[in-house]
Amino acid sequence: MKKFCPKCGKITKTFYCSLCETCYSKKFKTNIHKICKNVFVCNCGNLTHGQLIKKNISLNKFIDFSIEKELKKIFKKKYNDYKYVYIQAEQKKEEINKCILVKQNKITIAKYNFRFLIKNKMCRTCLISKSGYYEAILQLRGSEKFTKDISSIIEKTTDSSNLENSFIKIKKQNKNLANIEIGTKKLFGKIKKQILLRYKPLIKMSYSLHKIDDGKKIYKTTILIKEKQKNLRANN
Ligand SMILES: [Zn+2]
Ligand SMILES: [Zn+2]
Repeated sequence: MKKFCPKCGKITKTFYCSLCETCYSKKFKTNIHKICKNVFVCNCGNLTHGQLIKKNISLNKFIDFSIEKELKKIFKKKYNDYKYVYIQAEQKKEEINKCILVKQNKITIAKYNFRFLIKNKMCRTCLISKSGYYEAILQLRGSEKFTKDISSIIEKTTDSSNLENSFIKIKKQNKNLANIEIGTKKLFGKIKKQILLRYKPLIKMSYSLHKIDDGKKIYKTTILIKEKQKNLRANN
């Protein structure tokens, strides 16, 4: 049985939302969008765009990631099987432009011209760290190797963490000890996991009154991480 396009009357085999290919693609002829956004770059390496914060990622990848998120927001519900292709990309000094075609069933349904303006700005994490705020202080005590290893685990975990307020500040460090301020206790949870993969130290938490602010008592957590005599795990 022959099937006709209800709009133009053409005989057609394949239908897109019950229209022929020509009529279906006509629907999207004027679907061209220009989107301009700011991306903020902090000296610490954090890239911020709206609520999205990432580090250890190139500017280009970060932008592609936010484009993916943006398109998902627009198309996911309506066109579940949409795809998109980059047809043009251009990088200037303080600007990255990318042009994208969004397709469904191989038919272009929209065109997006994204323009990202790259600006220098201190990120939230650095602002908070600069203000002197921290949630806990880590006290490392042990041999030189232990102190060095744990410090390096703490630094690496913080660097790769995408948690909010993931920062550390080394307050004191020598061969056998280190005192490190840490942005959040949540970050410590991650650090602890990494430490326990390699060491079985004594970990002790205590709380002390930090200061009284407007009559409100503010407590800080002190976390002691102390090397035990036989520390390395047998399988390590
Ligand atoms: Zn038609
Ligand atoms: Zn920063």
